[in-house]
Amino acid sequence: MSGDHSDPLLAVEDLRTLIRADRGTVRAVDGVSFAVDRGEAVCLVGESGSGKSVTCESLTGIVPQPPAEIVGGSVTFDGIDLRAADTDRSAIRGARIGHVFQNPQHALDPVYSVGDQLVEAITIHREVDEATARERAIDLLGRVGIPRAAQRVDDYPHEFSGGMAQRVAVAIALAAEPDLLIADEPTTAVDVTVQARLIDLLRGLLDDGMGLLLITHDLRVVAALADRVLVMFGGTIVERGPVEAVFDRPAHPYTQALFDSYDGTTRLAERPSRDELPADGCRFRAECPHAVESCAGGEQPGFHTVGDGASTDGHAASCVYYGDGYDAEVIQSAGRAVQQSATGDDDD
Ligand code: SF4
Repeated sequence: MSGDHSDPLLAVEDLRTLIRADRGTVRAVDGVSFAVDRGEAVCLVGESGSGKSVTCESLTGIVPQPPAEIVGGSVTFDGIDLRAADTDRSAIRGARIGHVFQNPQHALDPVYSVGDQLVEAITIHREVDEATARERAIDLLGRVGIPRAAQRVDDYPHEFSGGMAQRVAVAIALAAEPDLLIADEPTTAVDVTVQARLIDLLRGLLDDGMGLLLITHDLRVVAALADRVLVMFGGTIVERGPVEAVFDRPAHPYTQALFDSYDGTTRLAERPSRDELPADGCRFRAECPHAVESCAGGEQPGFHTVGDGASTDGHAASCVYYGDGYDAEVIQSAGRAVQQSATGDDDD
């Protein structure tokens, strides 16, 4: 599924978003760059507060401003500059870029039935009559795992449980057949059967060419869907690569710490939140067991290829140990592969 990124569906370069609060200004997104191809699933992983959601919400400008402020970088979607002042982002959101929020209530209007909201989402963006749109709404509700969809289509959001509301929000995000779906924890509150159904649905859409930018703490969902993984810490990407490579050979000490929290069954555990990160050098160095003098000062370390130097799979880490003059084996040997447990075939 993964392409060569020569003409990506989404290209993000050096994105920077600040969040201003009484306690000070946080660099919530601090120089983030990545691409998503058509038919490719890219997954952002990292603890809460690492900048994943703010990154996604900055792409189409839906991050609340203030307190946030997008201060730099470029976001190009299918050749369209999403940060240009004259770009009609509202026409692209919903129609070409669907967004599933972590809190489904963000996407649901309590005043209208879910059917009305789905029909509106379909007819705003596609030229179909209302009867056809209603049929499609019922079909979509069924495909995201809402039982008795033909009856439930006329229910209101408050009549759905949290997990059901999340599925309805996924249906609304997919209603206009977007080219890119940005999904923040779309499978959190659903059981494994519904999760499998959602994964099948998303896989089918990926096969049809949709791009997917996914946030999840669930490594099984990552293993089932992602082509590539981006690991975020402190507003920056610290490791990137094909999902198999990152799972099998976690290279950055933060990725290793994150994977160490994995209980072998489902979700990555939350790590303790911290008030402040180092203002310069490697953001992770206060907690890093391998930190050396050169980890301090200047910018976040640049990306170095992980592997033998001949590697071309794009697996890279933002850590000095993968640069010249260091023995990367010191760090690499400390990593615990999660590939087997995340892709294990036990049947829960
Ligand atoms: S750059 Fe230094 S502090 Fe940062 S992860 Fe690598 S060894 Fe640790």
